[in-house]
Amino acid sequence: MSQHWAEKSFWLATAGDYQPDPPLEGDTKVDVAVVGGGFCGLSTAYYLKRAEPSLRVAVLEQEVVGYGASGRNAGFAMTLMGMTLGLTALRFGKEKTKQAHDFAHRAVDHIGQLVDAHGIDCDYEKPGLLTVALNPGQAKRLQGEVRLAESLGMQGLRWLDMHEVRAQVHSPMYLGARWEEQCALINPAKFVRGMKRVAQEQGVEVYETTPVTAFHHRPVPRLETPRGNVEAEKVVFATNAFSACFPQLAAKQYPVFTYIVLTEPLSEERLQAIGWKSRQGIEDGRNFIHYYRLTADNRLLFGGADAQYYFGAPLDRDQSPRVFRMLEQDLARMFPPLKDARIDYRWGGPVSVPLDFFPAFGYLGKDKRVAYALGCMGHGVALMNMAGHIMRDLVLERESEFTELFFVNRTVIPLPPEPIRWALGETIRQALKLQDRWEAIKESKVEAAAG
Ligand SMILES: Cc1cc2nc3c(=O)[nH]c(=O)nc-3n(C[C@H](O)[C@H](O)[C@H](O)COP(=O)(O)OP(=O)(O)OC[C@H]3O[C@@H](n4cnc5c(N)ncnc54)[C@H](O)[C@@H]3O)c2cc1C
Repeated sequence: MSQHWAEKSFWLATAGDYQPDPPLEGDTKVDVAVVGGGFCGLSTAYYLKRAEPSLRVAVLEQEVVGYGASGRNAGFAMTLMGMTLGLTALRFGKEKTKQAHDFAHRAVDHIGQLVDAHGIDCDYEKPGLLTVALNPGQAKRLQGEVRLAESLGMQGLRWLDMHEVRAQVHSPMYLGARWEEQCALINPAKFVRGMKRVAQEQGVEVYETTPVTAFHHRPVPRLETPRGNVEAEKVVFATNAFSACFPQLAAKQYPVFTYIVLTEPLSEERLQAIGWKSRQGIEDGRNFIHYYRLTADNRLLFGGADAQYYFGAPLDRDQSPRVFRMLEQDLARMFPPLKDARIDYRWGGPVSVPLDFFPAFGYLGKDKRVAYALGCMGHGVALMNMAGHIMRDLVLERESEFTELFFVNRTVIPLPPEPIRWALGETIRQALKLQDRWEAIKESKVEAAAG
């Protein structure tokens, strides 16, 4: 059988032999059909079966579990929801910003709990997160974020000055950093396959290589797949950026591609040259962040630098030579001793971006038979595993602490149709890039003036 999905990331290529479960054959009726076998789909199915063991719950995945963002991401389980704390406070107010942070904080713990409770082998570690400032503009914004966090009573964040951060990881570009304890790192392909096992042990049916080719909401929710149709009491769309393929969801979010390069395993000497002893996850303070970490075999994963929505929302733009080149140049600037490190893997994947950069969970239509989850941007590792609690309660129509969260059943600002959709996305992207560029240019002018 073709394993083309293995080319979608280093993680999917190297997480061990994998035999997909067979596709759905023939027509069937289920209580709940979950579309999408990523973190969200599997955790939703798992928590549903745990709550109501008598339900028949089926996950329909177009390729293999982890084929989407869940098998391609950088593996940071982090507390960030939305773009920054400051932007979230501006859009939703301080109280809701705290609520979101508390939920995400719990979501990071939840990853560790799943790993421990089910023995999921996924190279889990919890080294924390440095968000480094590369110029004074970024330092000012990150310090503002630390002050906002403190004013909201959030624990475990603090500012490190240039000497403190360079003592932890040495880059000539670092001017300071926001330090946050609450960040774990995982191998996402191993984790998502572990969650498939956990869900199946609970009695969930998982059908792989089963693309849903059409969805009819009424009179009864019905999903078409190549070899059989599914009639369901309830349907969950856990399709994230791929929601763009369903007309009912397409206007809720942009599928935006982000890219990663991965080096050869780094020797002890090379790691010592950059002083990266504690294996922290690292991001920087740009709008178009760089995100980077070490893998279990000490390769440096380096992603970000740019992100792009493509006209018409194609979902196959996994390769971008332009962004790969940017990443390789930026990596060499960030860590000069690694400038000759060989790049072994290059890949990309789509994240789901609503117009206001914030996740959304809710129902499609008033009859509450169809629920969706999307919009976690590049921050769904912890959140979309925790999302299983939210989606369970939406499907079971239970009122709970999860359905009370302000981002559940919220109004999502609809995207305009193409070509305005693309033009709007590109305008936002260029504005964010301009701010990044301006802050970097200001810095180089200050350096030039200082001689
Ligand atoms: C390169 C990259 C780096 C990232 N890094 C991080 C990070 O470090 N930390 C972090 O928190 N987040 C990160 N993210 C984001 C994170 O990976 C996502 O938010 C999260 O995985 C979303 O999970 P999900 O289950 O909602 O969606 P997905 O994992 O995208 O799952 C959706 C699934 O639906 C399936 N599907 C789609 N259409 C159909 C259909 N018609 N029929 C059947 N199945 C279908 C897809 O194949 C896919 O498996 C990153 C994302 C990318 C792409």
